[in-house]
Amino acid sequence: MLRKARRKELARIDHVLEKHSLRKTPLRRSILLAFVEAKSALNQARLIEIISKDMDAVDRVSIYRNLAHLKAAGVLHEVDSNNYVFCSHECEDHAHLLLFCQRCHKHQEIKDHERIDGFLSALGGFRFFGKKQPVFLRGVCSGCAQ
Ligand SMILES: [Zn+2]
Ligand SMILES: [Zn+2]
Ligand SMILES: [Zn+2]
Repeated sequence: MLRKARRKELARIDHVLEKHSLRKTPLRRSILLAFVEAKSALNQARLIEIISKDMDAVDRVSIYRNLAHLKAAGVLHEVDSNNYVFCSHECEDHAHLLLFCQRCHKHQEIKDHERIDGFLSALGGFRFFGKKQPVFLRGVCSGCAQ
């Protein structure tokens, strides 16, 4: 069972699942709800902890499989080894661009098409076409650099 109905979030999740032709299983919705509400990237252990509040028996293998599946579909991005975030840019026109701070694990997906185009064109002849797997820019954010 999901916690108190979070209608807006669940509507968004269902929309994303439908768009990717993925079945809307209770576990999948629960996983994505955890990601939508998370302030930072989640690893599998943390995800299981959160989902355990909603569901009685959490099957680790199913969670692992769902993570891999959602990542392959482009719904989740793996920002760090075994750390995932919800894709916040529902768009299939270009490679997704993700900024990730290696110290505080803050992440940000670039959604502004002008900035994306500017960045990708700065790469010259090197083109990225992956529409489901993002291009990562890993470094240290301004807050952590001070
Ligand atoms: Zn994305
Ligand atoms: Zn876009
Ligand atoms: Zn940082």
